[in-house]
Amino acid sequence: MTQSLPGRRSAQERAFRGRGGLPVVVVGAGPYGLSVAAHLRAAGVLVRIFGEVLGSWRHAMATGMFLKSTPAATDLSAPEPGGRLADFRRVHGEPELTELTPIPCDVFVRYGQWFQKRHVGEVDPARVVAVERDGAAFSVRLDDGQHLTAAAVVVATGLNGLAYIPLELRALAPEGPGPAALVSHTSQHADLSPYTGQRVAVIGGGQSALESAALLHEAGAEAQVFVRERQVLWGMTPALARPLTHRLAKPASPLGTGWILAAVCKTPGGVKRLPASARLMLFRRALGPSGGWWLRDRVEGVVPVRTSCRVTGATADADTVRLELAGPTGGLEIFVVDHVLAATGYRLDLDAVPFLTSTLRTDVACVPGSKAPDLDGAFESSVPGLYFTGSLAAPMFGPMMRFVAGTEYAATRIARRIAAASALPAPRP
Ligand SMILES: Cc1cc2nc3c(=O)[nH]c(=O)nc-3n(C[C@H](O)[C@H](O)[C@H](O)COP(=O)(O)OP(=O)(O)OC[C@H]3O[C@@H](n4cnc5c(N)ncnc54)[C@H](O)[C@@H]3O)c2cc1C
Repeated sequence: MTQSLPGRRSAQERAFRGRGGLPVVVVGAGPYGLSVAAHLRAAGVLVRIFGEVLGSWRHAMATGMFLKSTPAATDLSAPEPGGRLADFRRVHGEPELTELTPIPCDVFVRYGQWFQKRHVGEVDPARVVAVERDGAAFSVRLDDGQHLTAAAVVVATGLNGLAYIPLELRALAPEGPGPAALVSHTSQHADLSPYTGQRVAVIGGGQSALESAALLHEAGAEAQVFVRERQVLWGMTPALARPLTHRLAKPASPLGTGWILAAVCKTPGGVKRLPASARLMLFRRALGPSGGWWLRDRVEGVVPVRTSCRVTGATADADTVRLELAGPTGGLEIFVVDHVLAATGYRLDLDAVPFLTSTLRTDVACVPGSKAPDLDGAFESSVPGLYFTGSLAAPMFGPMMRFVAGTEYAATRIARRIAAASALPAPRP
């Protein structure tokens, strides 16, 4: 079923055709896909956008979760005024959100759906299963059997397919979280209540681990968190008005306070000009694991948290897992649990993007020392017409691309380049 705005003339009817009369395909309808599609349609480019609107926020995050980012850092990028989260709240008569009001995930999902209707229009929920080169264009196949040729493809699939489970746990982690799974990744859960009454070891020290542990505990599970770092870090409770001296010492940015974060958010283009090794270091280190300030009371003194420990092995023992952990002195300890929840993040790896055919994949140059695409200033890869946005662009443009706050920078640049290319005559195949 196609998700479109009833009664509104399809944007495609109004659009002039892309280069060679072909549409531009946007793969993914999360914050990045919706933002770029909105800008492209406003520029009059024929766009087909595929994926479930805010699909990751509906299926890869557990019910009851909140956003870690502040309302001001959570706007999708619209080509005209009126599409901000604050506008959505106002239009629906909902109270304004401040830095002191964590945003429930379901509010963000409703905002994304409203944004889609208002600024994007038609979205086809089919999944893209294959993209390959077809002369100077691209051949795109969908899971419902459709096939189309595209002038350009924008990959906006976020972290889908990139979940990382450490090697020591992987053997006990089948693809889905099904009843038999002894190990699963946080992205496999939209609901943690099936673990009520069970002993669950949560591995990781970031927001995902800490919030999952709180939700498990609140659902009546016996959760325990195992963290590699020496301590758990928590965000600072925001102050609505900060004195000038504080603002100068630690300027604010969409990702938090501090000069480095402020600089990388202000100038993603500046990040791109850094040597690849410096960009990768920024990508890996700029934002370490931490929990949101508003989560602290639900974890500290409530859920047991063991720091300075590393998983060294896991074996299945009937319906339980024997989890082996090395402590700070290297001594091994065994914990027997019913389930292990890996809140161990994601790895950017183009090889794991399932719909890029191997020939196309090998033509995409990567940032040296990584498996993330090397992109130019308009997010175009070494394959002309193939663009990557969102997290996959973070090793080029900095950590802001991992968050909704990066949608404006990315969407405007991609749309400007594609709109300009659409006005050119089609290249010879
Ligand atoms: C637990 C958690 C909490 C987070 N909290 C925050 C936060 O508070 N603030 C923040 O800014 N960021 C947060 N993030 C990061 C967040 O994922 C990104 O900011 C944002 O979702 C990135 O948008 P995106 O469009 O790149 O990807 P996504 O939101 O993941 O959207 C991807 C889209 O691609 C679609 N898709 C995937 N594969 C295909 C396919 N083959 N064919 C068609 N469609 C496909 C999906 O259905 C979806 O529509 C969080 C992430 C996690 C995991």
